[in-house]
Amino acid sequence: MSFVSGLSPQEMSELGVKPVLFNRKAADPDYRIDLGDTRRLLERFHADDTFREACFANSREAASRWGLVRDPEEVRDLWDRESGRTLGSLMKDMSLSRSVRRYCAFTIEKHHLRKVYREEASPAHARFKAWRERQVVRSRSELGATKAEHIVHAPFAVEFGKGCSVGCWFCGVSAPKLGDQALYTPANARLWKECLEVLRDLLGPTSARWGFCYWATDPLDNPDYENYLVDFHELLGHFPQTTTAQPQRHVERVKALLKMAEEREGLIDRFSVITLKQWDRIHEAFSPEELLYVEAIPQNKQALNPLKAIAGRALEKRNARAAKGLVDPIPTNETSTIACVSGFIINMVDRTVRLIAPCNANERWPLGYWVVSHGTFHDGKSFQDLLFRMIDGLDDSVRVDDRLNIRPDLDFELLDDGFRLGTPHQSRTFRDPHGMHELGRYLNKGGMTVGEVASRLQDEVDVPMATTFHRCNRLLLTGMLDEQPDGASNSLGQWIPGPALVHA
Ligand code: SF4
Repeated sequence: MSFVSGLSPQEMSELGVKPVLFNRKAADPDYRIDLGDTRRLLERFHADDTFREACFANSREAASRWGLVRDPEEVRDLWDRESGRTLGSLMKDMSLSRSVRRYCAFTIEKHHLRKVYREEASPAHARFKAWRERQVVRSRSELGATKAEHIVHAPFAVEFGKGCSVGCWFCGVSAPKLGDQALYTPANARLWKECLEVLRDLLGPTSARWGFCYWATDPLDNPDYENYLVDFHELLGHFPQTTTAQPQRHVERVKALLKMAEEREGLIDRFSVITLKQWDRIHEAFSPEELLYVEAIPQNKQALNPLKAIAGRALEKRNARAAKGLVDPIPTNETSTIACVSGFIINMVDRTVRLIAPCNANERWPLGYWVVSHGTFHDGKSFQDLLFRMIDGLDDSVRVDDRLNIRPDLDFELLDDGFRLGTPHQSRTFRDPHGMHELGRYLNKGGMTVGEVASRLQDEVDVPMATTFHRCNRLLLTGMLDEQPDGASNSLGQWIPGPALVHA
């Protein structure tokens, strides 16, 4: 797969860069060492405030004190980026070191991966596909381009356990304490393979490969996690991403897992690093080359701009501080989500499925995702039936008795010939001198059915009912209508009921 900024093989060769993410074999040992050493220096720079300070004072001395191989001056443009230049411009700059160009090329390739992921994860099932596309569009408008860019809308995620042993104070999905694990027994293995086949048939082989096997869990809490991954690879043709926050507790196991990913052409795995001590132990235990395909995310307090989404426990904590008057309450459009699935969350311990979609965390959805429906299964057949019923419950067009409500996060503005709907991130205008203004008025009022609105517009301003249905469908397709499920709200942050679909 070609990757960066439309470069030809000849241009890449002149720049000394290669596409090594989608084709790991292209990364020979020298390339790996070069890239790995740069990444190690930058990891330390981003994670460690003392190192940053030392680096700005005397970078070479700092590198030698921290035992880093890469000469910081060789890659200064990557850590002392006053110029604000883009990765693409740095990558093409022959006056900079080849190591800078290689690092930029690899980073661009990783950004490209998100795009590929989002596109290929689109399911084959037409109704499900249309619903997911609406979630992609809505996310951009609700969350804004920057936050939405990180959401790949994966088709499913699987938990092989209950809860998580790590207990991060900021957990965006409020994982409960560690509970039961689904061990790889013959019965569980058989059920797992049946589920994978159902997912492959329903989503299509291209989409299904983009699922992954953790959610409000750390996958390494399950001692048999790797067995499940091997089945995933065998049946879906892809070795899924792992994210763990405890690599330093399972060094040999993680090394073996990374080797499995290497042999099976995995893409990127991730470490979530919570303390500086953890960084030290990771850097001691793993060589820079071993971590070449691992994105280590600095969550520790000394990190430069640690990335913490305001959702789940981070939101709870923030709200508690606001209640004490220590900080301002956070507006809903400034919260966030770590939910990157528009699809199924499957738990193999209690055999449940939830159909979810990401949103800004709020009082009703504190974990940063809607639960559209949920249900239970006990074998492959009931799993399949459940997924189909969940998808059948999704709209692909407006129905005559649907309540016509715009999304609660949208601002409404009535225009002479229509109306405008928008968020601080995006707005859309719907104009037509013939009845669009009146449709806007009914929309803003809310609560009427599509049939009632269509009939009134026909009587009042002579707009054919078919035209109103067409306009309402346009609103649906552009993600403007409120598609949150009906049901009781729950701000406990653990289990949020949507319409239940239990197995027969
Ligand atoms: S953020 Fe991840 S590792 Fe931390 S508690 Fe939540 S699920 Fe566990």
